[in-house]
Amino acid sequence: MGAVPVTKPGAAGTNERAPEARATLTRRVQFSATHRYHRPEWDDAVNNSVFGACAAPKPHGHDYSCDLTIAGTIDPHTGMVLDLGLLDRILDEEVVRPFHNRSLNDAAEFQPGNLIPTCEELARLIASRVGLALVRANAHGARVQRVRVAEDDTLSAEWAEPA
Ligand SMILES: [Zn+2]
Repeated sequence: MGAVPVTKPGAAGTNERAPEARATLTRRVQFSATHRYHRPEWDDAVNNSVFGACAAPKPHGHDYSCDLTIAGTIDPHTGMVLDLGLLDRILDEEVVRPFHNRSLNDAAEFQPGNLIPTCEELARLIASRVGLALVRANAHGARVQRVRVAEDDTLSAEWAEPA
């Protein structure tokens, strides 16, 4: 399908080109999960020194909020950067269902000796999972531009695609 000329609403008879049809779309999903920071190759003193209370043997939980921004071209027929139903399905499959009411440490990526389940690593992991799902879904070039993960009102981390 070639580019369809877009006319301004109400500008009958004109064929004025609109600004470049690129935009972002941001969706927020939320999930509750527990985590613990611990490196098995470090002794307790080092773990406690680096991770503080987050190294305690008993995991603690947060109500996470994740804002995921997709960048792409606005489809001239639907007005959308990405089909919202597809985006919501991907977010449910790749973010909410794997993490909600679970321990983040149970994810393969956060197993002992692997990544530490911080907001930073979680944002990067979500960007990777959703990015792969978009490619699998052949989402017409829509891509993950930014992922922001907040564990509460005072702490959040952001992954952004390289400029
Ligand atoms: Zn925490």
